[in-house]
Amino acid sequence: MEDTLPATDGETSNSLVRLEKVSFTYREASSVFGASKNVYAVDGVTLSIREGEVVALAGESGCGKTTLGKVIVGLLKPTDGRLLYKGRDVENLSKKEWMIYRRNMQMIHQNPYQALNPTKTVYSILSAPLRFHKLVKNKEEEKKMIEEILWSVNLRPEEIAEKYPHQLSGGQRQRVVVARAISLHPELIVADEPVSMIDVSLRIDMLDMMLNLKQKLNMSTIFITHDLGLARYYARGGKLVIMYLGSIVEAGPTEDVIQKPLHPYTKALLSVVPVPDPKVAKTRKPMRLRSLDIPSAANPPSGCKFHPRCPYAMDRCSKERPKLSVVGKDRYVACFMEG
Ligand code: SF4
Repeated sequence: MEDTLPATDGETSNSLVRLEKVSFTYREASSVFGASKNVYAVDGVTLSIREGEVVALAGESGCGKTTLGKVIVGLLKPTDGRLLYKGRDVENLSKKEWMIYRRNMQMIHQNPYQALNPTKTVYSILSAPLRFHKLVKNKEEEKKMIEEILWSVNLRPEEIAEKYPHQLSGGQRQRVVVARAISLHPELIVADEPVSMIDVSLRIDMLDMMLNLKQKLNMSTIFITHDLGLARYYARGGKLVIMYLGSIVEAGPTEDVIQKPLHPYTKALLSVVPVPDPKVAKTRKPMRLRSLDIPSAANPPSGCKFHPRCPYAMDRCSKERPKLSVVGKDRYVACFMEG
């Protein structure tokens, strides 16, 4: 693959991608007098992703995970903060360099039904990006590459290549979506709830396949999920990042966060993850929150955004916003109890 941008010197060049205080806001019309206001879908996120790293990004629906994923791959432009690629501000890339960036950052969308053009065969779907990026010289090379790509996602080219998306099962469709993402040999894939629309029995197979591809192609991957069980499985040996209302509230090595969560929100999420052992399940109680309602991003609470739900909230929590601070060697948490 000819095109990767060289890293610049300096500490940020250790990361493949780094977000520095990145926010993404959109305007929402208010019902009162037709005025509109900024809604923070992503709010001041700082995060580094190293080459080859596996990161799980977890949190409840609407916490900004998908928006953050779209910002990382360049589908959305941050409204504030900096997005760095190998130490270089993406804002300053030339048009050609931006094309390289976009090719190197691929996204697997949640819904394989919507992600594939229903009027094209699998072969056309896979050949279009190869041609656009001039990765094949002739028809013969194109056919060979598409066959290899289909085999790599455990699909038989002779059975699949001439079919249309509606002729495939849900699992096959999602494999085609993965095939299209890896066909450009990206440096990073953001997979947005990639197994939520496929049969439960096939989910682990799909995650194992994606992990094998990640290993083989030495890509970084960001796995977006609301399911901490799947996050733990996929990002074992990697990093787990917990988001709440647009911000990171906790991050660290996956198993450490799971075994010893620091933020009350992470503890609450983990307390409702099902456990297979019935004896252990009997002894576990979901953590009691002060409120089950998730506040609206359009009208976030003051201070710590978790304070209306947090059972440990103190006076200070409604007035000040805790910073994401390092705890020990590699844990990060935004909570006054750990500061
Ligand atoms: Fe709870 Fe306060 Fe910590 Fe926020 S800062 S999580 S409200 S204890």
